[in-house]
Amino acid sequence: MTNNTPPVCNYEGSDYQTSFWDQGGRQYEDRSEAIALKRLLPKSGRLMLELGAGAGRNTPRYTGYERIVLLDYSRTQLEQAQQRLGASDKYIYVAADVYRLPFVDHLFDGATMIRVLHHMSDAPKALGQVKQVLGPGGTFVLEFANKLNIKAILRYWLGRQKWSPFTLEPVEFVELNFDFHPKAIFGWLKDLGFNIEKVLTVSHFRMGLLKRIVPTSILVFFDSIFQWTGAWFQLAPSVFVRAVTRDAISRNDNSFFFKCPECGNANLVDKINYLECPNCKSKWEFKDGIYDFRKSI
Ligand SMILES: [Zn+2]
Repeated sequence: MTNNTPPVCNYEGSDYQTSFWDQGGRQYEDRSEAIALKRLLPKSGRLMLELGAGAGRNTPRYTGYERIVLLDYSRTQLEQAQQRLGASDKYIYVAADVYRLPFVDHLFDGATMIRVLHHMSDAPKALGQVKQVLGPGGTFVLEFANKLNIKAILRYWLGRQKWSPFTLEPVEFVELNFDFHPKAIFGWLKDLGFNIEKVLTVSHFRMGLLKRIVPTSILVFFDSIFQWTGAWFQLAPSVFVRAVTRDAISRNDNSFFFKCPECGNANLVDKINYLECPNCKSKWEFKDGIYDFRKSI
């Protein structure tokens, strides 16, 4: 990899969708997230960028958008998404590094990043990339793992956890797994030129015992009410934010879509099985419906 980008958490070959979501007892989290997304997403839009789309668990929830780009670092995750969503012109599959997005500036009017920042060792850099490809008034729905959650606070007070949940720096509790302080995230978003429009807290009842003894629909119901408290304080393990670009940039009206992640040139030549960059001679593969911008072929 070039440009010295931070390390990437790679789900290549992972059965994450099956083991974590389908059979992992996470129906409560999944349904609570669906409610939060519905509350945060615009009713309609033109082109959405789903960062870290994985196997497309959330993609069918972006109903208002005409077209959706599913971006993930793992090609096998995108293949699973293709199977799940079926062939459609509505979806564009792109394997790429979040730190080196292969799109021209201000291309999208919407972006989501759900359960992804969690794996970013350089969160401000990743958020900056998102800002760069969003057009004027573009909506960004971001989820992050909250270090200031009640469980972490109690553990800290009881002396069972060394790191403080009250300080602004991210905590890496397992390699390439980070929790963030809400104030740090809000600060980064504002510095980048986003207005924060809405904050929801999600998964308040993420506790094994509760999930076993209380019916999922009851937990989801109470979570959906508690989500609104996110406007005032954030003590749940998961936080959702709707941020909107505020600066007066003009929309990208030219016909370019991709750009070379190596040199930034947008004038890529379509060679059917790959896109060629005439400037730096990189070749970006297009195979079985997936664009691959991770490594030049
Ligand atoms: Zn190039």
